[in-house]
Amino acid sequence: MSVLRVCPLLPSLDEALRGHYKIVDEPSDEVVAAVTTSKYGVSNEQMDALPNLRAIVHFGVGYETTDVDHARARGIVVSNTPDVLTDSVADLAVGGLIDVLRRMSAADRFVRRGDWAHGQFPLAVKVTGRRVGILGLGRIGRAIAHRLTAFDCVLSYHSRHQIPDVPYTYADSPAALAAGVDVLVVATSGGSATAGLVSAAVLAALGPSGYLVNIARGSVVDEPALVEALRAGTIAGAALDVFADEPNVPPALLDRDDVVLLPHIGSADTETREAMGDLAFRNLQQFMTDGTLVTPVA
Ligand code: NAP
Repeated sequence: MSVLRVCPLLPSLDEALRGHYKIVDEPSDEVVAAVTTSKYGVSNEQMDALPNLRAIVHFGVGYETTDVDHARARGIVVSNTPDVLTDSVADLAVGGLIDVLRRMSAADRFVRRGDWAHGQFPLAVKVTGRRVGILGLGRIGRAIAHRLTAFDCVLSYHSRHQIPDVPYTYADSPAALAAGVDVLVVATSGGSATAGLVSAAVLAALGPSGYLVNIARGSVVDEPALVEALRAGTIAGAALDVFADEPNVPPALLDRDDVVLLPHIGSADTETREAMGDLAFRNLQQFMTDGTLVTPVA
């Protein structure tokens, strides 16, 4: 019984796997489980080349790179690493929001360029009390809302399902949400169901004083429409941790001071990554013991 390492893994996870199981990098009839990341997933072709594959373990909460229906039809169970990264991704979302409104990264560049000697940095936009809309009020979306409550933000949200036990106003579409807020924070899952959800029309509804924060997936935002909205000034700015074609960032964004560009670091702190590695390992271990998973995907 072997475990397929689909892609490079966190060193501590890799070490734990090698200490307990026979790890292989090529498909074979021996492979019963595959360990992968949100970025790589397991393709249908890979699944079909592994006749005895019974479990796919993801390092990461997103699993849109794996066709779960295809896996299920083949009797393969799938896990991810929810909850353990929620706080850090929410922290980064709030950091990006504050950065783009208060123009902290732009101000840092201003100081480094020596421009302070020649005049004051332009005034920015206040964070406290702003109207913020969360698109996708799941685990991370709720943690973002919780943090923004401390900033006295007026919160609303849109998900496909209205949630009965939250004190935030529900908007019945992404455009309706965007129309009523100063900042739209994208925290949905990725994949085909949310592709292009933040469309040109949603950006237009956000308006010329509106800001976009995206920590979900690049695919959720119509990226060419976003670039055009920034160029035309039909939105005020954006903080982006995720892009449509990572690690490629639209060149038109690179010299803009009204965007904060981050290299997909939502969960990228040591404690969180170790917790994700530990949970991925525990999923594999439980599968190898009794065929079940600690955190199976829904
Ligand atoms: P989650 O609890 O499953 O939340 C996802 C939310 O998206 C749910 O509220 C869901 O609500 C909503 N949603 C899904 N499809 C939608 C649609 N078509 N329209 C509107 N809302 C929709 O997942 P999570 O743990 O919060 O993680 C969310 C996502 O964050 C992950 O899937 C991943 O893509 C991203 N992420 C990014 C980083 C990073 O490094 N930047 C790190 C971790 C995760 P309904 O089902 O009611 O629509």
